[in-house]
Amino acid sequence: MESSAENNKIIQTQVIIIGAGPAGAMSSVFLSKAGIHHIIIEKEIFPRDKICGDACSGKSVFVLKKANPKWLDEIFINKAENLACNGLLFVSPNGKKLSLPFSKTGQPQQHAAGFVTPRLVFDNFLFNKITSPYATIYQKATVKKITRENKAVTVEIEYQGGTRTITSPLIIGADGDKSMVRKTFVNNDMVSKTGCVGLRGYYKNVSGFHENNFIELHFLKELLPGYFWIFPLSNGNANVGVGMLSEVVRAKKINLRELMLHAIQNNPNIRERFANATLVDKIQGWGLPMMNKPIPLSGDHYLLTGDAARLIDPFSGEGIGNALYSGMLAAQAAEALLKENKFSADEIKVKYDDVLYRNIGDELKMGKLLQKLSRQGWLFNLVVNKANKSQTLNTALTSMFSDLDLKKQLRKPSFYAKILFNK
Ligand SMILES: Cc1cc2nc3c(=O)[nH]c(=O)nc-3n(C[C@H](O)[C@H](O)[C@H](O)COP(=O)(O)OP(=O)(O)OC[C@H]3O[C@@H](n4cnc5c(N)ncnc54)[C@H](O)[C@@H]3O)c2cc1C
Repeated sequence: MESSAENNKIIQTQVIIIGAGPAGAMSSVFLSKAGIHHIIIEKEIFPRDKICGDACSGKSVFVLKKANPKWLDEIFINKAENLACNGLLFVSPNGKKLSLPFSKTGQPQQHAAGFVTPRLVFDNFLFNKITSPYATIYQKATVKKITRENKAVTVEIEYQGGTRTITSPLIIGADGDKSMVRKTFVNNDMVSKTGCVGLRGYYKNVSGFHENNFIELHFLKELLPGYFWIFPLSNGNANVGVGMLSEVVRAKKINLRELMLHAIQNNPNIRERFANATLVDKIQGWGLPMMNKPIPLSGDHYLLTGDAARLIDPFSGEGIGNALYSGMLAAQAAEALLKENKFSADEIKVKYDDVLYRNIGDELKMGKLLQKLSRQGWLFNLVVNKANKSQTLNTALTSMFSDLDLKKQLRKPSFYAKILFNK
């Protein structure tokens, strides 16, 4: 499909993807499956790190399975780099613990519901899966300009000392939190004001993990709405971090790094486990763009995926699953649009935004509601207390992280009646 890869010539392709993280990689994988030629432009060289908690839940497993079930086998067999995760430990602001194993049936599953893998490893795994006769990759490329005219999008890049001009009827923005695609096309972009800010540090010699590798969310009262996490890794290290709403950090002038270190040194549930722990590298921060209310995810000739579309769950802070999922839907939308050769905002909305919101809109709304509720420490204490007694609530909380269908239970009145009676 490319007319030429030579310097200064205009290269035409069916779809341009900016960014080769989970959202961009999955867009590419599904475009290749559909036999659609595309160009991926990435500013870094893989393997590259991404600041993250490194926890992949049921949604990630679901999309990877759709892409290729063998990839899950590859992930779970490689125990040196990937740690199968079998449950979740919630700790409420008053220090009470709630264990939520992911397997509800007690039956052995083919795979664990989730896994923890450093993004340096996971994103490189996905990146290597992009290779296909339909995909052309420009790594270490700098996007200079994105323009939209004459029913096409044109991207000018600097690559290997020269300039390339690439044009296509559709561009997929998969370029993360600081998305240039979003900034180019979306007016009044409020993303920086509506997200969360997170810090991550890798530690060695953290003790006291659950024998089945549970990931841990500690809802400390000084961090609400937000939490401190400890996620075990396969090499014996732990991914440790904190996340908190940016508006609260700004309004209260909070030093998040100090709060994180204070919890490690002083919190009675945490400090002993870090008695012999040391920081492996430095503590680093990055934004988590979350959705306050449904917003347009596309327009004439463009659509946004993953963090560029602000698809991180406002309660759990989980974004890898939705990045993969939106990448898959973006490719499916592109296939339908190319068939009809229509790329207007209205057409893309029907084929992308509407499909995405139909599938995960309720879940994002629920995340926002839970985030609001989680500002109340007492309510958290109550929920953890109840969930220790009510199997229904216990299962529902597990489903937030591991099961897509079970989340729908939260909309049924019978669900709340059962909790009331500790069922
Ligand atoms: C501290 C923290 C902890 C988190 N913990 C978790 C967790 O445990 N589990 C979870 O599911 N989610 C977590 N998240 C969220 C998760 O990291 C993101 O949702 C996820 O990375 C989104 O994937 P993406 O592909 O949309 O974007 P990214 O992973 O950010 O990938 C974007 C890609 O685009 C490239 N790019 C950017 N700009 C350009 C440009 N101009 N030109 C070319 N390329 C460009 C980047 O180099 C990058 O490779 C966390 C986030 C943070 C900040």
